[in-house]
Amino acid sequence: MKRITILGSTGSIGRSTLEVLGLHPEEFEVFALAARSSHQALLEQCVRHAPRYAVLEDEQAAEHLRRELGRTGSRTEVLAGAGAMLRVASDPEVHMVMAAIVGAAGLDSALAAARAGKRVLLANKESLVVAGELFMRAMHEGGGELLPIDSEHSAILQSMPAERERWDLDVREITLTASGGPFRCAEPAALETMTPAQACAHPNWSMGRKISVDSATMMNKALEVIEAHYLFGMPASRIQVLIHPQSIVHSMVTYHDGSVLAQLGVPDMRTPIAYGLSWPRRMASGSSWLDLARIGRLDFEEPDAARFPGLGLAFAALEMAGGACAVLNAANEVAVQAFLDGSLRFTDIHRVNAATLEALGGSAARELDELLDLDARARADAATRVHALAR
Ligand code: NAD
Ligand code: MG
Repeated sequence: MKRITILGSTGSIGRSTLEVLGLHPEEFEVFALAARSSHQALLEQCVRHAPRYAVLEDEQAAEHLRRELGRTGSRTEVLAGAGAMLRVASDPEVHMVMAAIVGAAGLDSALAAARAGKRVLLANKESLVVAGELFMRAMHEGGGELLPIDSEHSAILQSMPAERERWDLDVREITLTASGGPFRCAEPAALETMTPAQACAHPNWSMGRKISVDSATMMNKALEVIEAHYLFGMPASRIQVLIHPQSIVHSMVTYHDGSVLAQLGVPDMRTPIAYGLSWPRRMASGSSWLDLARIGRLDFEEPDAARFPGLGLAFAALEMAGGACAVLNAANEVAVQAFLDGSLRFTDIHRVNAATLEALGGSAARELDELLDLDARARADAATRVHALAR
């Protein structure tokens, strides 16, 4: 039995993970489920999956859950707060940790799992964007396994040479595919008035609201370029982005002999989740089968820099000082939240990101306390800019 902790269990990735686990009850046991404050959703998950621990970051919500669960006669122990999150991420009895909290808020617990030598199923790409070097070092020192859950990075891992030592030698470049999101064909002039509902209506994937907005600006792909840089040790000059509206080719690896290896499948996060859970084997994910004859054609195009200026910020940040990627991520989290709250225009997300990166991207930061300090300064800086642009 493999015991697993799911951080962010009530979110889109967390729920898909529980669906996959539900197909393999003889192989996996849910050790802990953790979320921010959604006690009702967590209650239902606890009744169904009977974890040893349920953790809510919010103390009051945890109290609610404790009361409600008590009525069901459940034996799940309810814990509260950030410390409890770290505990269930690093408990000696846990084999795997699904890191599926959204944003830099997921860094501490993902790091705790890395340091404790767990198999880390990393959906929380922001961890690698904020603290890529530090996170990879923690994985190495902890001695665990890092399995990316982001579909593109899972595809690349599946297409890379089997021996890690050959990655740098055999591979010419990696190509991240991108759907182009809901505004791929929108008139650039129309972008200014796009609403949160329009930005979150992704054509191919159903995801949390933050990553959905990131897909609409293509900041998601910017974060993924940084993620790929750290995961695969590839310089930015060997990472390409290609728009592929059907989201069937999940990414590809070009070799020096001209071969291109890719991983294909229907757009369903249960496939990369199952791959991470079962690696190096394969197991059923519940996803439907790819029918290429029905799909008929696969299209590819270069991303339009005028429509998606955010993409360039990743390459700019990777050229800058050690903390630049953390600055970019912090600015983006603040700007996206302001957009979702209705106080910032869609096109101003990029303005906030670019200006904050320019102001603070030169700051050097390596250690965790320096990175968190810079993250806080970038959030304050971005909030000032949001305020100045607010509608
Ligand atoms: P979501 O908004 O649907 O869910 C977020 C989860 O995190 C919830 O369970 C929430 O309770 C929890 N959470 C938020 N803040 C927290 C905090 N401070 N402490 C504890 N828990 C907290 O998000 P999602 O779409 O599932 O995305 C999760 C992560 O996976 C993100 O980093 C995203 O970029 C990445 N990802 C998602 C998808 C997808 O298809 N949804 C694909 C690739 C990568
Ligand atoms: Mg992705």
